Amino acid sequence: MEMRKIYDVVIIGGGPGGYVAAIRAFKLGLRAALVEKSKLGGTCLHAGCIPSKALLRSAEIYANMKKGEAFGIVVPELSFDFSKAQSRKEQIMEQLYKGVQHLMKKGKIDVYDGFGRIAGGRSVLVETSGDGILTLGAENILVATGSRPRSLPGLEPDGKYVMTSDEALQMTDLPKSIIIVGGGVIGIEWASMLSDFGLDVTIIENEGRILPLEDRDISREMHRLLKKKKVKIITHAKVLPETLEKGNGIFIKAEHKGEEKSFTAEKILVAVGRTPNTENLGLDILDIEMDQVFIKTNEYYQTNVPNIYAIGDVIGGLQLAHVASREGMIAIEHMAGNCPSKLDPILVPKCIYSNPEAASVGLTEDQAKEEGFLIKTSKFSFRSVGKALVFGNSDGFVKLVVEEGSGQILGVHMVGPNVTEMISGAGLAQVFNLTAMDIAETIHPHPTLSEAIGEAALAVTGLEIHT
Ligand SMILES: Cc1cc2nc3c(=O)[nH]c(=O)nc-3n(C[C@H](O)[C@H](O)[C@H](O)COP(=O)(O)OP(=O)(O)OC[C@H]3O[C@@H](n4cnc5c(N)ncnc54)[C@H](O)[C@@H]3O)c2cc1C
Repeated sequence: MEMRKIYDVVIIGGGPGGYVAAIRAFKLGLRAALVEKSKLGGTCLHAGCIPSKALLRSAEIYANMKKGEAFGIVVPELSFDFSKAQSRKEQIMEQLYKGVQHLMKKGKIDVYDGFGRIAGGRSVLVETSGDGILTLGAENILVATGSRPRSLPGLEPDGKYVMTSDEALQMTDLPKSIIIVGGGVIGIEWASMLSDFGLDVTIIENEGRILPLEDRDISREMHRLLKKKKVKIITHAKVLPETLEKGNGIFIKAEHKGEEKSFTAEKILVAVGRTPNTENLGLDILDIEMDQVFIKTNEYYQTNVPNIYAIGDVIGGLQLAHVASREGMIAIEHMAGNCPSKLDPILVPKCIYSNPEAASVGLTEDQAKEEGFLIKTSKFSFRSVGKALVFGNSDGFVKLVVEEGSGQILGVHMVGPNVTEMISGAGLAQVFNLTAMDIAETIHPHPTLSEAIGEAALAVTGLEIHT
């Protein structure tokens, strides 16, 4: 086993954490190698953000076209071809995949196809399919191996009835009905998409509300809007995998407030979180410390071995693509001897790409109270926003959580059309510690959906106009 080359950093995993880190390394003049066992782009590009949003968009267009007559568009017979939605999704992924490959070439980053493993403090083994086992020398190692869907014992994917998001994204035909276990972000996106495609959807959620990590008003509104789409939502319900029966579709029971309830559907989608990819990585060789199942790091993403870093889904926390990318950049800056700003999880925008969407940044109302803030909240409905009526979608609202007295913005929570595009402005306001009055004084162009933010800011002091 020859030592191939010595790099300033060897990155294991080419998802949005790893490949973005590789580009930052190149830009800082570091020699970087990237080891990827499957395809550059990772979960986000091949089994997460991009394919799910491509299908969501098809579903949204289909749902909008059903309402076409209201816009003066008459389509005599409307139908959809799911295989075409799938091939559109594949084309988008392929285009972006080529883009990431191009970026690696442009950045002169050596990409090794194979399974990477830490072999010592300064070396990484790569098991390639063509070139056998290679050893790469590494001044630093960055683990960015991501995660995979978590399944429940007894509810493992079976190629026919039981799916996780990985299998669901590959469906060639849509069933008529589906049970979704888990009302978190992924479960809600699938529920919205599949009900827009016309499926009979049931969500079974363990907690007392869907989207339990979001502000209560967001959960409530999303619940109402999904029910409006005829999605059935059972909260406080624990699915009982041992009751699963397969045959002509599936049958399963859930414990709901002390009673057993039965459910049937053609398929079941398990959306109960993600498991980090930590197996066979050689973490034990260096006694890398873990935080339960995740790799433990400090705020610069160093493990207990200072030249070994870890970022992204494999370290837990907010498992989001933009978080993985930012963590990757911070880790590389730190390796390069710079002093990067730390990531504050409170300032991370969180988006749900359902129809309509939800987006939030900062503290929820409950969190703000728990942290001891004296708060005021304000809410402005999209019903009073001209552009939302023009859009034909005036469900939802913008909610602000601000500190009483100073008016400083503590959290912004939205449900409604295109809110995932609007949350970055709210994020900027929080990064710069702006107040509701600062937002109110910012001119929001008319007619735009963003007027709802300006009005919500005015509403903090009772000065809103359009209610
Ligand atoms: C259905 C779904 C929808 C999602 N939608 C969004 C969204 O809209 N927005 C958002 O921000 N996030 C979304 N996410 C989450 C997002 O995909 C992840 O947070 C993000 O991909 C994590 O990036 P990462 O680089 O840490 O890991 P990953 O993207 O998982 O990449 C890890 C890479 O490492 C490779 N790898 C693993 N082990 C090894 C090894 N030993 N050697 C070599 N290579 C290895 C893998 O093949 C993979 O390519 C979604 C996830 C899912 C499942």
